[in-house]
Amino acid sequence: MSVSLVDLPPAPRTRGPAAPPHDRTVWHINTTAHGGGVAELLRRSVPSHNAAGVPTKWLALGGDAEFFAVTKRLHHRLHGYHDPHGPLGADERRIYAAATAQLGREVLEHVAPGDLCVLHDPQSIGLAPALSAAGIKVAWRCHIGSTEHASPEVRETWEFLRPYLDAPLRCVFSVDGYAPPGLRPGQCVTIPPSIDPAAAKNRALTPDEVTAALRAIGLEEGAQGTGSARSGTATVLQDAPLPPGAEVVVQVSRWDPLKDMAGVLAAFAERIAPRRPAAHLVLAGPEPLDIPDDPEGAEIFAGVRDAWAALPAPVRARVHLVKLTLKDTEGNALLVNALQRRADVIAQKSLREGFGLTVTEAMWKGAAIVASRVGGIPSQLRHEREGLLLADAHDGEEFAAHVLRLLANEGLRERLGDAAALRCAELFLAERELADHYRLYQELRP
Ligand code: UDP
Repeated sequence: MSVSLVDLPPAPRTRGPAAPPHDRTVWHINTTAHGGGVAELLRRSVPSHNAAGVPTKWLALGGDAEFFAVTKRLHHRLHGYHDPHGPLGADERRIYAAATAQLGREVLEHVAPGDLCVLHDPQSIGLAPALSAAGIKVAWRCHIGSTEHASPEVRETWEFLRPYLDAPLRCVFSVDGYAPPGLRPGQCVTIPPSIDPAAAKNRALTPDEVTAALRAIGLEEGAQGTGSARSGTATVLQDAPLPPGAEVVVQVSRWDPLKDMAGVLAAFAERIAPRRPAAHLVLAGPEPLDIPDDPEGAEIFAGVRDAWAALPAPVRARVHLVKLTLKDTEGNALLVNALQRRADVIAQKSLREGFGLTVTEAMWKGAAIVASRVGGIPSQLRHEREGLLLADAHDGEEFAAHVLRLLANEGLRERLGDAAALRCAELFLAERELADHYRLYQELRP
């Protein structure tokens, strides 16, 4: 086990809230400094808090393979996803309890009574009782969830976490309806996640900047030659770069079964490519080795790579797999930004989703989006208004029909994209979330 302080460059000083929302240090605690929505959120919000005069630090918890195997199962199960490993038993409880007890001791070497710890996700909720007993104020921010409380996976997982749920003074969920039954009245808060429009991942890019970023990794045809390419920031697996005039469908996601990259690949190969000759697919995700708490990444990527390799050559030439190096934070952000802006259609065919930050990022860029009607996504965009939602996330035919409809209709792409950008500006930008957090901190002052 190990606990490390994630050091971030300071953000420019900003005018903070009228009264300091908390006099003591606010600690955000999660299990990875890179990869996924939570790291993305903290990377931005921790410097913003400090810039606004709220002393805030970020601790990333380490763990061994056994611990992260259990927490990955908790993650899938809380999404209501089938757990092939069977019920959570005494072994899982022992592994989880031992790891979080050890991590709790290490965290107590950093934090002081009266400080506020915001624990993120099921990986760290196990620390709540020990921190609370040591006089630390504890809130829990759960970024995943499901409204399917009757599902056996969801119910059992909440029972598994039950011993830890009394300690947090507040449990924060991204979507109304994710809170499990049995929490105290007033313990639950809903705060939808947001994005920072000024961040490298979201700032405006000129078409030339987009092209330059994609050429630099060899994805777009240009000076870099042809075929698969490796740069400091990305590895691209492809037969040939995107040709000029390609209609590009993009999904940016971790290599996680719940993101269904394989389903996007299959629907593209079988149903979109034959009907739309200029269409290309780009599946982009992080280098799996860069995400310590996501042990499935390498295997899922390998499955997608094998499926790509097995495609008939003319289709394979139109599918591009991109692995981004998260350790190059700026390079990764620029490339995600460029990919989302280059896309003619953005896909998020998740089978389950807590709250898809990639969807919000695409909305901000005015993209035409096809996404599953799962988890938080329908609260982010509405069918036929800001994007197209799949009635059935597993349905490749429906997915393909939506993508083909958008590719064929530029006016529709523009209308939905403009509406998406507007809704994002109204509901999902950082300022609103900062205010929500300050309110929470204020309520939990010593
Ligand atoms: N992301 C990234 N590089 C990648 C893939 C994803 O920076 O190769 C980012 C993405 O832009 C988003 C976050 O990781 O900000 C994923 O958050 P989301 O809520 O969509 O899904 P999660 O991974 O948390 O389930």
